[in-house]
Amino acid sequence: MKIAVLPGDGIGTEIVEQAVRVLKALDLKFEMEEALVGGVAYDAHGHPLPESTLKLAKEADAVLFGAVGDWKYDKLERQFRPEQAILGLRKNLGLFANFRPAICYEQLTHASSLKPELVAGLDILIIRELTGDIYFGQPRGKRTSPDGNFPGAEEAFDTMRYTRPEIERIARVAFEAARKRNKRVTSVDKANVLETFQFWKDVVTEVHKDYPDIELDHMYVDNAAMQLVKAPKKFDVVVTGNMFGDILSDEAAMLTGSIGMLPSASLNASKQGLYEPSHGSAPDIAGKGVANPLATILSAAMMLRYSLDQEEAAQRIENAVKKVLAQGLRTPDIYSEGTTKVGTREMGDAVLKALG
Ligand code: NAD
Repeated sequence: MKIAVLPGDGIGTEIVEQAVRVLKALDLKFEMEEALVGGVAYDAHGHPLPESTLKLAKEADAVLFGAVGDWKYDKLERQFRPEQAILGLRKNLGLFANFRPAICYEQLTHASSLKPELVAGLDILIIRELTGDIYFGQPRGKRTSPDGNFPGAEEAFDTMRYTRPEIERIARVAFEAARKRNKRVTSVDKANVLETFQFWKDVVTEVHKDYPDIELDHMYVDNAAMQLVKAPKKFDVVVTGNMFGDILSDEAAMLTGSIGMLPSASLNASKQGLYEPSHGSAPDIAGKGVANPLATILSAAMMLRYSLDQEEAAQRIENAVKKVLAQGLRTPDIYSEGTTKVGTREMGDAVLKALG
């Protein structure tokens, strides 16, 4: 097994360093190779995703990614901006399934804007289709309106569309993921209004026949948005299209209130994946040794679970994170009175120790 390690910019190097230490301590047989990505790659090679980095990512079973971006690259032409590296990796690796867990640890319930009893112990997984839907559907553009409410007026339009294979593969990913969790999938659609999502619902229902051990229910997106703040613990795995997933995954992430704690993954059909924290490169705290490495460490756990088939090792890391939180250790972003403030490396040390 091979892991491509791409720390990137800002706090990326600090947090990925801690995740790599944790991975090495597991005593598993895999090779790790590091490469530049983002702004630092542009500085060194004139491109945020150099050929050599892309080659390494393609050859690897999984990519552990830190973060990219810094204000100093904001004036570059779009194709050279650090963030283009993520888009390039998604496209070249065919990463169509985005996993965003929202986990609220008992000790961090105060960070949520919801009542503690609603979020304590929350553990849901939002799976968003990442390469189709209205974000990519053609045709799109601006024109003179041919009909509708104001014929002849200037208008802009996009096209929502999904093919059967696109829905089938994301549905399979969701059912497989549910097998590793509490065996429940909620498919979110807008079948009452949109043809695309009536089709989505029909195809998900057909695919479900291959997964009789998994419970499936369907929910309209407006209701899902309400339920996420009313009773979020009712969900296990939520699967939906690109646009609804974009919105719901951010809503779900905020239920936990702590961005420094949230891992994410994007997978392709052969389970190859890109694993990264949900946050960015945090240039405001880069180099200060205070960034929270837990989202990245938890991303490494997801990598073990979903790309490398090492469920036990994944749980070892997740339990170690729970243990350090129970010990009261906190980086400044999740600090509250009565707990112990630690830096990035100390947090990494504590997780290593808690691995047992
Ligand atoms: P950000 O997520 O980097 O930071 C937002 C706030 O959260 C900041 O105050 C930051 O200090 C804090 N924060 C983020 N991660 C933290 C951590 N691990 N520990 C403690 N505090 C943390 O978002 P931003 O400020 O909007 O963007 C900064 C740069 O990151 C930009 O260049 C942006 O384009 C880039 N970005 C990259 C990614 C990515 O690489 N996937 C994602 C989002 C933003």
